[in-house]
Amino acid sequence: MGKILVVGSSNTDMVIKAPELPRPGETVLGGEFFSFAGGKGANQAVAAAKLGGDVIFLAKVGDDELGKNAIQSFQKLGIDTSLIRSAKGLHSGVALILIDGNGENSISVASGANNSFTLADIDSIDEVLGQTEFVLVQLEIPIPMVEYLVEKCSEKGVKVILNPAPAAKLSLSCLAALNIITPNETEAEMLTGVKVSDEKSAEKAAHVLLESGVENVIITLGAKGSFFLNRVEKGLVPAFSVQALDTTAAGDTFNGALAVALAEGQSLKDSILFANRAASISVTRMGAQDSQPFRHEIIL
Ligand code: AMP
Repeated sequence: MGKILVVGSSNTDMVIKAPELPRPGETVLGGEFFSFAGGKGANQAVAAAKLGGDVIFLAKVGDDELGKNAIQSFQKLGIDTSLIRSAKGLHSGVALILIDGNGENSISVASGANNSFTLADIDSIDEVLGQTEFVLVQLEIPIPMVEYLVEKCSEKGVKVILNPAPAAKLSLSCLAALNIITPNETEAEMLTGVKVSDEKSAEKAAHVLLESGVENVIITLGAKGSFFLNRVEKGLVPAFSVQALDTTAAGDTFNGALAVALAEGQSLKDSILFANRAASISVTRMGAQDSQPFRHEIIL
């Protein structure tokens, strides 16, 4: 099985659930507190490791307890953390999430060390790239660093899966160097200008991305599944029908799982089926990394 290098963010999500969201200047008492590991990079690395992937994670954490705890939890799951750097004088990424009685939320993120990626950090993977089958990256670290990474991988012939989340514009040269792009409906619209809501509109948006030079386009469509398009094949791989409880990190689970199946040599279509299955399990459980399935749970 090929090695998967995940490059991206690591955050700690601190959640308070209270009857109401505070208005500016207001204090609301009576909440419950939860703390979870998060960040799209970490969620995808953990998803891949739980499914049996050979995962190495390049991330930046702060010079603090949150960073140390995050590294320990990655190691417990068998993730190679030798590329994770602790940024002196910076705090680890934190998301403060307030949820009210109706499930409405308000989120504030302090990216901290996630914003401190440098060209030197990306250059530090040169040796690892020689043994890497797939690089998996998202957009919660500075975009110029993502573009530099993609350019480097393209020069070295290493395939990149880019999950363009959160939605942002990317240079044409970056798009043209990607093996796979995996936007959801909103991200696909931001990248193409095509409003995506079903298979037909997904195909239209996917064509725009294919014309930009991406080799394989996969647009995830929530409970409808995932639409894929390349020069030789296309189709909708339907989602598994489940009782969804919490769709947090469904996309992260999908991407981590996709990388595992592809690194095992499965076809694109079979890999999407595997990823749909893993993501469908994650939506039946609360949380992000806690909701992600282990390999033995995947029954196709
Ligand atoms: P999304 O990021 O919402 O497009 O979801 C990513 C993937 O998670 C989808 O392609 C599905 O495979 C899976 N998924 C998301 N929501 C659901 C749902 N309600 N039921 C089953 N699978 C889901």
